Amino acid sequence: MEYAEFKALFVKSLQENSLEPQSDDIIRLFCEFDNHLHKVNVITNLTAIRNTPDAISKHYIDSLLASAYIPPNARVLDIGCGPGFPSIPLAITRPDLSIVALDSTAKKIAFVKESAEILSFGNLKAIAGRAEDAKIIANLGKFDVVVSRAVARMNVLCELGLPYVKIGGKMLALKAAKAEEETSEAKNCIRVLGGTDVAMHATELINLDGSAEPRCIIEVQKAKATPAIYPRAYAQILKKPL
Ligand code: SAH
Repeated sequence: MEYAEFKALFVKSLQENSLEPQSDDIIRLFCEFDNHLHKVNVITNLTAIRNTPDAISKHYIDSLLASAYIPPNARVLDIGCGPGFPSIPLAITRPDLSIVALDSTAKKIAFVKESAEILSFGNLKAIAGRAEDAKIIANLGKFDVVVSRAVARMNVLCELGLPYVKIGGKMLALKAAKAEEETSEAKNCIRVLGGTDVAMHATELINLDGSAEPRCIIEVQKAKATPAIYPRAYAQILKKPL
């Protein structure tokens, strides 16, 4: 899509979702990324969203809803980033962050790496691998914030994510509906893994056609170290969630 048309849609979506305005330079990066995403998506199936208005609201703006909960200069890990959500929108709008995007699917990470090169990001690194892999855990170290969208239920996601969170840091799970049920199901898991207070930030995503969808950002604080036996192998996590 041409820049002028893209900008009009993007600005409208920011406004309708009560997000801060963004500069021309930033909107241009989103436009460049959007063109690249749709071009590659025709050949490599990266996302089911195949048009720009839906990508703006359901991918870019939805990812930005998490930004308000990420403190300045944080080191951030995006677990199961897919083609870069929420990591790419956060990297575009938050040069203060240092972001690692992790996904187990090599073609998705290849796309994120390529996008980071095209957009000349200095603040985003993409790694192919599984979150529960001990080598990845040792290499990546700890983070101020772990984010994750559409990867697993809370009682599975917390075992993948909380081991990476520094004491005093937090995990942010970007969820659609049913967040309350998932969160109460994960109470024990959060406690065992060193998590403490849980806050649920319920909101709505307003699409460009005016429709609204429920969204919830679950914020889990970490107060204690995660016992070294976690995370377990993925099959084990799925079979017997904590
Ligand atoms: N966060 C993106 C993608 C969601 S799809 C978005 O919201 O659009 C879920 C992604 O999680 C897939 O790309 C899958 O490869 C990845 N994934 C699932 N389990 C994983 C694990 N244990 N470690 C790393 N990535 C994982």
